[in-house]
Amino acid sequence: MTNMIDALRARFPALQQQVNGQPLAYLDNAATTQKPDTVIQALLDYYRQDNANVHRAVHTLAGRATRDYEGARDRIAQFINAASRENVIFTRGTTEAINLVAYSWARHQLGEGDEILITELEHHSNIVPWQLICKETGAVLKAAPVKDSGELDMAALQGLLSSRTKLVAIGDASNAIGTINPVAEIITLAHKVGARVLVDAAQAMAHHSLDVQALDADFVAFSAHKMYGPTGFGVLYGKTEVLEQAQPWQGGGDMIETVTLEESTWNALPYRFEAGTPNIADAIATGAAVDFMQSLDLNAVAEHEQRLLQQATEGLNAVDGLRIIGTAPKKAAIVSFVMDTAHPQDIGTLLDENGIAVRTGHHCAMPLMARFDVPGTVRASFAAYNTAEEVERLIDSVHRIARLFA
Ligand code: PLP
Repeated sequence: MTNMIDALRARFPALQQQVNGQPLAYLDNAATTQKPDTVIQALLDYYRQDNANVHRAVHTLAGRATRDYEGARDRIAQFINAASRENVIFTRGTTEAINLVAYSWARHQLGEGDEILITELEHHSNIVPWQLICKETGAVLKAAPVKDSGELDMAALQGLLSSRTKLVAIGDASNAIGTINPVAEIITLAHKVGARVLVDAAQAMAHHSLDVQALDADFVAFSAHKMYGPTGFGVLYGKTEVLEQAQPWQGGGDMIETVTLEESTWNALPYRFEAGTPNIADAIATGAAVDFMQSLDLNAVAEHEQRLLQQATEGLNAVDGLRIIGTAPKKAAIVSFVMDTAHPQDIGTLLDENGIAVRTGHHCAMPLMARFDVPGTVRASFAAYNTAEEVERLIDSVHRIARLFA
């Protein structure tokens, strides 16, 4: 395993640096992962050799750009086992993918008295769009509570599901405290009452492969930058039947079939939801990120990340005055904690002085922070390239900080 991780780390240029005189221990992977050489190379190759707009011109460069851009769609469709490439819509990320569902589907499908069900675990991206849509449509937003362990209260969730529920929007894993939700079970329950389900898979994608058909999700949203790909690029997967119900949300080039000065008709899926010149380079680089992930043994990676999580959990639990928020039995490789004596911001700053990058704050999950009555946490999150030595450095540094503030 050590040799495999050494070889893997060698492919990530950003991991080779020192920060404040220490080798970088990058433990902020839930925010964004580092990028391997092949993803960076794909960006360079596109701009150096193939830079042209897609779908429009007959010249050679445009042909190459279009081939690679659409090739990325095929690779992503295959990676998530979408029934067809028409189910894969390119977006700027998870946030835009969820907003696309909110404005092109929910806005037209929901009305007074309908309900959208989320959970207390959600990222703001999976809360705020629904608040906006509820204001517009008169629908009501409900949230299933979490238990003290950070697990979803499934009995309460079931109690909130009814024939009024038109959409359940739920994260596969909490970015703030790591809880993995029983998404497949929730999809079955939601479908029984006739609700559609959107899965926010932003955190899940880097950790395990996702089969959207087996899951039977209606919509799935994710971001490339959390799965070793570029920033500002993501995907909305939608079943054909729900995408056909949706109306275009942004007008412009590429999303139309015909335009007169009076009216327009719409392009086929998925282009109907992709107005304007797309983010070509990042789409192609996301294809490279998918290739990278498929080159890994994802089961072995998941086991490795879970070992790091266990090591971090045990080590941090032994620190005086430290409390881990989120102790669910099934967690993504994320550990979130607070200390009696030190503010998360100070802990994060001191860790950075030791070359250790963690996230501090509310992690775009303010309702969840309120639920646990904390202003924010320190969050360490692990990826395939992290090592036991890095986790040991984290634990040692937190022990030192505890002594410093005692
Ligand atoms: N949902 C979850 C669970 C996330 O972790 C994030 C990013 O932190 C998002 C949504 C938003 O992703 P993006 O900022 O890439 O749109």
